[in-house]
Amino acid sequence: MGIPYGKQQISQDDIDAVVEVLKSDFLTQGPKVREFEERFAGYVGAKYAVAVTNGTAALHLCNLVLGTRPGEKVITTPITFAATANSVLYCGGEVDFVDIDTDTYTIDLDKLEEKLSSSPAGTYKGVIPVDLAGYPVDVERLRSIADKHNLWIIEDACHAPGGYFTDSKGVKQLCGNGAFSDLQMFSFHPVKHIATGEGGMITTNNEELYTKLLLFRTHGITKSPELLTEDHGGWYYEMQELGYNYRISDINCALGISQLERAKEGVEKRNCIASRYNEAFRDLAPVKTPFVAENIYHAYHLYIIQAEQRKELYDFLRKHDIYTQVHYIPVHLQPFYRNKGWKKGDLPVAESYYEKALSLPMYPSLTDEEQDFVIEKIKEFYS
Ligand SMILES: *Cc1c(COP(=O)(O)O)cnc(C)c1O
Repeated sequence: MGIPYGKQQISQDDIDAVVEVLKSDFLTQGPKVREFEERFAGYVGAKYAVAVTNGTAALHLCNLVLGTRPGEKVITTPITFAATANSVLYCGGEVDFVDIDTDTYTIDLDKLEEKLSSSPAGTYKGVIPVDLAGYPVDVERLRSIADKHNLWIIEDACHAPGGYFTDSKGVKQLCGNGAFSDLQMFSFHPVKHIATGEGGMITTNNEELYTKLLLFRTHGITKSPELLTEDHGGWYYEMQELGYNYRISDINCALGISQLERAKEGVEKRNCIASRYNEAFRDLAPVKTPFVAENIYHAYHLYIIQAEQRKELYDFLRKHDIYTQVHYIPVHLQPFYRNKGWKKGDLPVAESYYEKALSLPMYPSLTDEEQDFVIEKIKEFYS
């Protein structure tokens, strides 16, 4: 099957954990969901966590509970998976894009500040930064910008569980810990750090948002005695909001709990793989390796290079059964968004980033031999 850019790793313990659920009384809404939430919250250092069907549902729920309404504007980055932007539209909101930083490829906070300062107060409701490839966005600075302009922050941390940055006070801030963003969300698609098949998670330190998330996850229905407006008896529940069924199953969560045991080790392995690539390409001029600032611990969901002759390199590697990928085609250039008026030239940094971006194989079970083969082929291509 060759060498893909990313791949899940399933152990015997993972399989046993899933089988145990299949033999139990609960396939969904049982004890594994709660346990996964608690353990994940512990892993990223947040107070609350809400597990859902997938990352896209998580993004939708985040917008719902923060109150994105028709016509309201939310800012995000063009270099992300389409779902980040789409989630705003699900609520009838409008998306505006701010170009990316030339080093980190995450949203450019200077440009964001400029846009906010030159727009009438109240134009924008929120911002959705993305920890691209596992590079933690400077949410400390983003928080101060957001506070000045009265914006909420949903951090799309799908790529970054286990990553962190050291803040201006010297404190280690894990991605998803809720110290600066209102909500953070994750995906457990098999290609991400932790696989549950399909799955997602939202973390927060805000109790009010947490309560709303629980409500919207299950049709807007509650049975909590303290939330009910009437009480007809033991069967009684109330639908108080137009929610959804975004529940995840115990089967998925059992797999997630088991995977979480190896998550930290996985990020460490990813960092070792990154070091080997960095070393190998140090003197290879046509390849630019990822920038990492001093205060950053990168989670390396992806290892993205900027490569000369990117298309030819992609095709050459593919011929040798190495399946790289491009993350991402700028969202504003997708036909759906072009139809909303976006066009080439609107976000030049993102567009030139896209021309050379290539994600090399990066996953904990990638062997040294496989990685050496990838390196050898890239060097051969440029020789
Ligand atoms: C994977 C991903 C999503 C969506 O998650 P799903 O679980 O596939 O719905 C959203 N944003 C980013 C940055 C992602 O990588």
